[in-house]
Amino acid sequence: MNIAFISAEVAPFSKTGGLGDVSSAFPKAMENLGHNIIIITPLYKVVDLEKYNIKLEMKDLYATYGNKAEIFEYYSSHLPKSEVPIYFVKNSYLYRDGIYVDEDGEDYSDSPIRFLTFIKSVFIILEQLGFEPDIIHLNDWHTGLLPFYLKTEYSGKKLFSKTRSVFTIHNIGYQGIYPLETIEDAEIPDVYLDDDHLGFYEQINYMKAAIRYSDIITTVSSKYAEEIQTKKFGYGLEHFIQERSDDLYGIVHGVDLTVWNPKTDPHIKRNYDSRNLKGKEECKVLLQKILGLDVSDKPLIGIITRLATQKGLDIVLKKFDDMMDLGVQFVLLGTGEQILEEKLKRKEKKHPDDVSINIAFDNELAHQIEAGADIFLMPSRYEPCGLNQIYSMIYGTVPVVRKTGGLSDTVLDYDEEKEEGNGFVFERINADDFLEAVTRAVTLFKKQPEKWKKLQKRIMNLDFSWKKSAKQWQKVYELAIIKNKKKK
Ligand code: ADP
Repeated sequence: MNIAFISAEVAPFSKTGGLGDVSSAFPKAMENLGHNIIIITPLYKVVDLEKYNIKLEMKDLYATYGNKAEIFEYYSSHLPKSEVPIYFVKNSYLYRDGIYVDEDGEDYSDSPIRFLTFIKSVFIILEQLGFEPDIIHLNDWHTGLLPFYLKTEYSGKKLFSKTRSVFTIHNIGYQGIYPLETIEDAEIPDVYLDDDHLGFYEQINYMKAAIRYSDIITTVSSKYAEEIQTKKFGYGLEHFIQERSDDLYGIVHGVDLTVWNPKTDPHIKRNYDSRNLKGKEECKVLLQKILGLDVSDKPLIGIITRLATQKGLDIVLKKFDDMMDLGVQFVLLGTGEQILEEKLKRKEKKHPDDVSINIAFDNELAHQIEAGADIFLMPSRYEPCGLNQIYSMIYGTVPVVRKTGGLSDTVLDYDEEKEEGNGFVFERINADDFLEAVTRAVTLFKKQPEKWKKLQKRIMNLDFSWKKSAKQWQKVYELAIIKNKKKK
């Protein structure tokens, strides 16, 4: 199949979270299945042209909307360690420092137009390349208007006559809702701006537009596919999702084992595998030294996360001192809400030998924490898929998670009697339940080192490769195409 994969971030070029990782791992997996897949993404100033050998392909192209014609250029390169072509759109809207926020951490107020010009440029690039997509695969709200234009302005174009759109919801908490005035220049006819189409309480909602107009909708775990149809998790879109439930599929991501793998990871101090965990012990000592923690054999608990309400840091903070009383060390890497940063920093001051709070975005340190920590926390309020719990397991770092979304699909609670399960799970968003799960993990670590080691080895040998999910994806694409033929 010819697949055009469209995403606002693609690692290692640009990344703020899981979307970046998936946007490079997924296309590689589809290429391995023999598909002809290309990626199109914005070129932000943070993207390093030289390092990744990104070259100008064409300039003086125009993305048009309403009466406006936005001049743009596009560049090209390949995903590292693959043949997958990637094209970068550069225009004056997109080519500023950050991806979504400016240097003060404020959202770019013109993001509706930024991402409108991006998706309008995508059509032009596909035309320039003569790329006839069977599937245009879109990701999250930034790409949400493309299915609308595919079904309206581009519906009669020969290049797109057999194209189907697949839209993946990575996080329904971020929908791209803006006042209608922000896209006035697009001159979208009024009939499309009501609540049956692109509108949402007299605003525009990019994610809703995609839910309304894409041929197939997917999300990133089967549990999250159920959850987003409920009021609690749907963020106001539950009814629209329910209406499309026949076209909704939940598939958990795989992991790019060329990037996240303790056997080969170039960012960690010692490589290791499940047959020999000595290297992991050395990684722990080196991590303790890098972070300025006491080199002790207390269990080291790690978190790598966006500091957002979604991630449940408030629950950790509520029981922080009780957790430290269990005789543990704690390392956090994250950026986000300032209030959480400040509260966490206070905890570091209180426990200087055992707590390390790192307010930064640091890929190398993220790999070092996955390798050096013993336990990994994800007490999320909701978690569409979650990658860090999967990375943790691959690195022999036992996850403690709340039972939601992808965490529920990938982590089964440990049963000490039967020695089954692959982590420690708590059900309710509740600080006592959280502490209880951490206590169970710490107790097993301290009191039953042999059982702990067996658990580590077992989770390291679970199969999180893309093989299985890439095949499920292929089926979804096939369904989209069959649906197309039936309609004709
Ligand atoms: P989400 O996409 O909701 O942020 P995921 O668990 O799916 O959460 O993915 C997070 C990804 O972002 C992982 O690759 C993680 O290592 C990375 N990450 C998050 N915060 C940081 C940070 N401060 N520094 C480095 N990597 C980070």
